[in-house]
Formats: sequence, C-alpha cells, structure tokens
Amino acid sequence: MKAVTLFADWKPRPGFQLGAKDIEGKLSYLGSKVWCNPRIEMVEKEVPVPGPTEVLIEVKACGICGSDVHMLQSDEQGYIFYPGLTAFPCTLGHEFSGVVAEAGPEAFNKRTGKRFLPGEAVCAEEMMWCAQCRPCADGLPNHCERLQEIGFSIDGAYARYIRMDARYLWSIEAFRPIYGEEKMFLLGSLVEPSSVAYNAVIVRGGGVLPGESVLIMGSGPVGIAACAELRRAGAAKVIISEPSRSRREMALALGATHAIDPAAGDVPGAVLDITEGMGVKIILEATGLPSVVWPDIEKIIWEGRQLNATVVLVARADDRIIMNGEVFQVRRANVVGAQGHSGHGIFPNVINSMADGMDMTPLITKKITLEETAEHIKLLQTNREQVKITVLPR
Ligand SMILES: [Zn+2]
Ligand SMILES: [Zn+2]
Repeated sequence: MKAVTLFADWKPRPGFQLGAKDIEGKLSYLGSKVWCNPRIEMVEKEVPVPGPTEVLIEVKACGICGSDVHMLQSDEQGYIFYPGLTAFPCTLGHEFSGVVAEAGPEAFNKRTGKRFLPGEAVCAEEMMWCAQCRPCADGLPNHCERLQEIGFSIDGAYARYIRMDARYLWSIEAFRPIYGEEKMFLLGSLVEPSSVAYNAVIVRGGGVLPGESVLIMGSGPVGIAACAELRRAGAAKVIISEPSRSRREMALALGATHAIDPAAGDVPGAVLDITEGMGVKIILEATGLPSVVWPDIEKIIWEGRQLNATVVLVARADDRIIMNGEVFQVRRANVVGAQGHSGHGIFPNVINSMADGMDMTPLITKKITLEETAEHIKLLQTNREQVKITVLPR
C-alpha cells in the first residue's frame, strides 16, 4: 500500500543533550532540536498484520492537522518547527476514521462488549498511552510517561490501512443512521480534534452552568469545536475572537453566538459589552500566541464582575507569559493547561454529542486524495482560509 511518509535527518542542534527516553538517530521528545531537512515521500509499505489485541483498519478519512504542517516546515537552520515526540521516517496522519478489516482474537469492542468484527466503523485516539505508568494508573492517560503517538512516532493513517491496538478505538456506528455511509466517516475523522476541545473546556476548564458566558480565542478546528460543545453544555453567550472573517463565520455557524475581530481593536471592551459588564466563565487560549492575548485576558477578568473564571491554555506555545498575580487573586481566577484527548469519558461523550446532532463536518473545507496530501500540508503553511483539509485514501 502507498503511505505518505515523512523523512528527516537526525542532526542534533549544537549542545543538545539526548533525553533519557530519546533514542539516538530514531526518536526524540523534542523534535525541533534534532530533526533537519524534512521531506515527504510516497512510500510503498506492507499492509500490517494485527496481533492478538490489535485491529487492522481500512482508513476512510484522515484530517490534516497543524502538527503535520509544523513537522514539514523548517526554520532557517533547517530544523522542523514541531517541538514534540517524533520518530522518523513515519507515516503521518492521526485524525482518522475507518472500518475494521481484520481483528485479533482478543481485540475487544467497547460498544458491543465482544471482540471486534469486520465492518465496524471506528475512530481512534492518537495518543497511545501505555496503561502501565503512574499517570496512566492514576487515570491520567494524557500525561502517560511512555507515550507513543500515531502519525508522529508510530505509522499513521495517510495510507490505505493502519494497525492499532483495540484499546484506542471507539465505535462510530451510532453515526450511521443519522449521517449515512459517506458523511459518518468525515465526522468520525473530527472526533479527535473535537475531543482535544472537550478535554480543554469541559474536563480542564470545568465546563459551564446553563446561562454562563465563555470566550474562545482562536477559531481553528479546536476553537470551533469548543464553541459547539460549550453551546451544547448550556452557555448562553459563546464569543469567538478571530481575525479571519471566514473562520469567524464558521464558528458562528457551529455554535458561537457572538464574534469579535481582534484586528479591529478592543477585545475586552467588546466582551464586556456583549456580557453587560459581567465577563466570562471560561477563556480558551487557542491562538498559540498567549503572550500577545494575555493583556486582553487579564483586562476581561479584572474589569468584568465574573468571579472564578478559568483561563485554559490549549494551543501549544513555548512562550513566556507576564502575569499579574493580583488579577487572579482578587478575581479568584484560575489558569490551567490542557493537553490531549484521552480518558475521562471524552471520546464516547464527543461521539454521543455528534450522534445527537453536533455535526462538525462544515469544518472540512476541502477533500483530497492520498497523492495530494504532501502539497496540501505545504499549502496550509500559508493558507488561512482552509479550516480542515481531509484526505480520503480510496
Ligand atoms: Zn491533530
Ligand atoms: Zn502510561
């Protein structure tokens, strides 16, 4: 089968010390410190054979993620932008859905309580948590100490088939009667990014009581999914702040009730206007520029009357924030970090919401073939109008 595979040269930056879990020439937890000269090649690979607890999945849809873009993008010295866990060469692609083609005898289906049977429609977690380390044992798989990630360190889903352990799979059969054979897989490929949003605003941010207001900064797929989820959770005012008009409109179509253009000026003033001076319960930082938006965040908390607000940092950014402690003390406010999408009932709850009408497929602005994947990963380095480009590897 053909597989969209990323190659890069192992050339640690001067002075870089290998971490305890890094493997010389193969795997690093700090990708941007070691990998040079990234390039994508279409490679011919064997169809994988599932082990006893594993499933072979025929991929139906796989979305391009910002992290794919950053793995192929390099700085002036040639090092990749992506800072995280990577092992190359690796087939990319992790936001996918598909159909079970073959299953091992001990591959257990959480929907039926029996072994997986061919034909079951599924999506998958991207984080391959080990289930043996201390965070996993404590029920915090998003912080697994021995994490592997499909499409980063284990072959991913820009291919006809992918093999995964059944523990990471979730049935999306509930979509079939509502969305039909074609759309259900597009929606299935959006469960993973929607789950990142759910972990951020519901699990880490604590969710909302019906009638409360929230602010989402940044209208990428995670920001828009957060709008949809908080609106379903009962938020009365879901405010999106985003410079791109088309992205603001998409957020409004999928759950936001109000939109602000930060390029047009006073974000705190607009938020306090919309909420009659109250402010918001949750502020989601999904722009990736926390130090840039932080003064606005503090102004909203300081000048609004809402106490106990929570700021959730979900976009990855190796950035230093200058924070005024007084604001968080006096307003009884919180700042929390959010990482990942596993555990806490997140995947099944997102799937149930989608089966109950939370249709996120308008996020998909373009569908492409496997052969077109590399050029579109490059396109997304500059194009801000596309929201989610999805690969259909027929
Ligand atoms: Zn992703
Ligand atoms: Zn673990």
